[in-house]
Amino acid sequence: MRITKIESWEHSMRLEEPYTIAYETIESTTNVFVRIETSEGIAGYGCAAPDLEVTGETAESVMKACRDSVEPALKGADPLRIALQLSKLKKPLAAHPSAKAMIDMALYDILGKVAGLPVYKLLGGFRDRIRTSITIGILPVDATVNKAREFTAQGFKAIKIKGGLDAEEDIERVIRVREAVGEKIEIRFDANQEYSVKDALRFIDGTRPVKIELIEQPTPRGHPNELGSVTRKAPIPVMADESIMNLLDVFRLAKRNLVDMVNIKLMKVGGIFEALHINSVAHAANLEVMVGCMDEAALGIAGGLHFALARPNVLYADLDGHFDLADDPTAGSVILRNGILYTRNEPGLGCEGIG
Ligand code: MG
Repeated sequence: MRITKIESWEHSMRLEEPYTIAYETIESTTNVFVRIETSEGIAGYGCAAPDLEVTGETAESVMKACRDSVEPALKGADPLRIALQLSKLKKPLAAHPSAKAMIDMALYDILGKVAGLPVYKLLGGFRDRIRTSITIGILPVDATVNKAREFTAQGFKAIKIKGGLDAEEDIERVIRVREAVGEKIEIRFDANQEYSVKDALRFIDGTRPVKIELIEQPTPRGHPNELGSVTRKAPIPVMADESIMNLLDVFRLAKRNLVDMVNIKLMKVGGIFEALHINSVAHAANLEVMVGCMDEAALGIAGGLHFALARPNVLYADLDGHFDLADDPTAGSVILRNGILYTRNEPGLGCEGIG
């Protein structure tokens, strides 16, 4: 089997409702899709969700990397030799993790379609569903509470609240959400790097009575000692997100016991193949793993979901990036029921074509 054609294109999607995090407000997102065609008539699909702040890419740079590096390297190559093909892209796509994730996904999609199996089963198939959290951006207190009520009424059992701009207000929002949703709903909190160590510890102390499940990336990436200071003093798990971009990052944080949990996003780390490596390092260091996402189409979410379902130590999922996208051409690649995500249980990643 040979790769005969690699076609990529940009696609912009509007968010039904814009949301705000510590450093920006997001109203729409542009993903890049790829279709890799093969000599046997099987096609694989992948998705990139570039984000200048997190992955350092734009849709244009992903398209350019695909044209300049991916096409020459993979045209005529065997798509089933995923490790080999990705090794060819390691250097040219070193600064293009979401472009690499897109190609990685399309190759796993082909592998699954050839094997006649969903990717999560090919990779180990530990579970067949996982609960996902849904995110509430930074909003005034009352609006945060209303959103939390709306989401729990839809069946979500885990809510992630964004913050980081004002610890005292964040504490109030979390306490008010707990009062509104009751004890059975998990509450996660993400400061997106915007707290100092002091802010983070104040937030953790102030929310102690209402039991939050975890705090994500309290302090800036590039300052591992600050993250470690929070972790050492916090009675709840501290998770690294932006601090983990690759295998070396997780190895370094794990070696020095600077975090309790890691957030693996395919778009940051370059796809399923790399995510499995990162997950193994986390597992070896006894760190719990959450699979996360960017503002990405359902196909990208499917990639993260299949990875997460394959491994026993991926205990948490925050795969909500597609819920609010208007005009997602891959909508339906994953199934949501009562806050639980399922694959389509079709060969590959569950995307038959992008219309
Ligand atoms: Mg995060």
